[in-house]
Amino acid sequence: MQKARNLAKELKNYLLNEEEGFFIAKKPLKTKKAETITKKDTAQKIVPKVKTVVKDKAVALSELIEQIKKCTRCELGKTRIKAVPGEGNINTKLMFIGEGPGFDEDRQGRPFVGRAGQLLDKIIVAMGFKREEVFIANMVKCHPMKEPNNPEKHGNDRAPNQEEIALCRRYIEEQIALISPDFIVALGSVAGRSLIKDVPTFSAIRGKIYDLNLTYATPAKPIKILATFHPAALLRNPAWKKDAWADLKVLLAAMGREHKSQTNEKQG
Ligand code: SF4
Repeated sequence: MQKARNLAKELKNYLLNEEEGFFIAKKPLKTKKAETITKKDTAQKIVPKVKTVVKDKAVALSELIEQIKKCTRCELGKTRIKAVPGEGNINTKLMFIGEGPGFDEDRQGRPFVGRAGQLLDKIIVAMGFKREEVFIANMVKCHPMKEPNNPEKHGNDRAPNQEEIALCRRYIEEQIALISPDFIVALGSVAGRSLIKDVPTFSAIRGKIYDLNLTYATPAKPIKILATFHPAALLRNPAWKKDAWADLKVLLAAMGREHKSQTNEKQG
């Protein structure tokens, strides 16, 4: 009985909170523990090989970051303060990809650090992860501005245009291929339509799982991708948060993490 009460309380945290609290959870969703290698002989055979691969991946990603920091391939490179290559766990199963850096990101050189980033952090926790367990990046690495001559102006952000996305595309594709996550969440219409399918309306692709197809890079294994609303859009339209959570539950189900959240809903 007590267990059922606790589960109902937990469900309330996740599904009944309003406004930004919709994604605020005191504890992440409980999930199945990743399989661990327990046999010593198996570990001895596998670990050295994994270490080599991880080191190569880390080196390749670091080199890519250095290229991005020096890049002036598109006009955005002339007006940025700092390039924002992306950050996180390079061995993650889950990547989040937005459209491009904004005002705060341009100054810090880190992705999703403004208000939208704070909401993304809450979304990640609600999904049962910590920010440092996932990798976060953008389609373009430099700040697109409506008025590039006025970089101190707030509200100066804009979505990257098709040319900027095309010129920057190799970087995000190489990051995806090197990190090789199992799943990607495309945040917003720009990332979703660039990485999944360029359809007239974002709603046509939102909330569905697709196989990722890249143009310039070949990941070591198949990757699944799902698009949902960008956190900045959720800040402007809080009513969409429930739809975003419904999208993310589709992804969690595909990841095999649906059990606990579905149990909670039934008992709530
Ligand atoms: S947005 Fe991409 S292509 Fe353009 S300058 Fe920055 S890193 Fe280079």
